[in-house]
Amino acid sequence: MAQAVVDDLARLVAFPTVSSRPLTELAAWLARRCTDLGFRVERFPAPGEPDKCSLIASIGPPGTNGLVLSGHMDVVPVVGQPWTTDPFILTERDGNLLGRGSADMKGFFAATLQALARIPPDAYRRELVLVWTHDEEIGCLGSAQLVEHVTQTGRSFPTACLIGEPTDFQVLRMHPGHVAMELVVTGRAAHSSRPDLGLNAIEGAARLVAAASRLADDLSQEQADIPEIDRPWVAFNVATIEGGNAINIVPDRCVVRIGYRPLPGMHSDTVFERLVDRIPDDLRPRTTARILTRTPSLLTERGTPLEDSLARHALTHHVGAASFATDGGNLAKLGLKPLVFGPGSITVAHQPDEHIPIGQLVRAVDVVEDVVRRACC
Ligand SMILES: [Zn+2]
Repeated sequence: MAQAVVDDLARLVAFPTVSSRPLTELAAWLARRCTDLGFRVERFPAPGEPDKCSLIASIGPPGTNGLVLSGHMDVVPVVGQPWTTDPFILTERDGNLLGRGSADMKGFFAATLQALARIPPDAYRRELVLVWTHDEEIGCLGSAQLVEHVTQTGRSFPTACLIGEPTDFQVLRMHPGHVAMELVVTGRAAHSSRPDLGLNAIEGAARLVAAASRLADDLSQEQADIPEIDRPWVAFNVATIEGGNAINIVPDRCVVRIGYRPLPGMHSDTVFERLVDRIPDDLRPRTTARILTRTPSLLTERGTPLEDSLARHALTHHVGAASFATDGGNLAKLGLKPLVFGPGSITVAHQPDEHIPIGQLVRAVDVVEDVVRRACC
């Protein structure tokens, strides 16, 4: 049985599904496996990107409140990283399996496939739904698209939702989000000998940056009462600035990009709106502000039935917070109550020689089987 889950992980790692690359071969393989297991499989192509899709696979009586298992099919790039093995050939070394995505999060996929193979299709009294997404690593884009689609078309999901990100089998019920925003200040170009004829966009942007810094200071004073989080305030970063063409031209355009991390439970746009309120009046007519990407935070209440079920398998009984964002923030918009819990460690994710201990992978098969049986059978 151990060999079967290792073989599945090897097959999964061999699909080089780096975000921004085609994902359809992996999706087709997973869809086939799910169909063979008796699941109904629906494919959701990304709008305008035929090489990308998310999958929803379900089994058991539709509309009954069983369980959602969710994960992302994409992985982060390996370019420039000092791997000691081929990242897309699963390699065993010292009790670990090395490969891109082994921990984040194809190990969970392999464990899920093997766990489901142990449960007969007619054993389900409540619905089990698999939600497999694309482009999670570049801003949870697949889950955002899926949620928008489902909101328009209407489809009910079970409330309990397990996101199998690598947590070393610790239950995490919250995480901050991430919002990227852009401010564009325009001006009027002129020869630098006559600055009085121009309007300097960089000088305008500098005042916006100063306003943003003051907002960041204020945010750092507004500490939330969230003991699970070490630094319970909104992290805020003025990240890039671009402007000007030549030393002897008054610049007519300057672009500032800012990122911030809404706390668990905080609406994604609140900080954006506060910054827009602080744009100086004279700059308003020549400033545009917009949100580029938005990954919502997650805050799931304590004491859900899934938490109780996962607690039986948790290696630590402290229910905590993830430092990273997941698809859970988007899925929560559908009324789901996601918890993050899975094999492998986030500390090796995204790193060269990413790996998962074989023992954790094998254990994950038992864990997923038990959690599914308790929720659905
Ligand atoms: Zn991940």
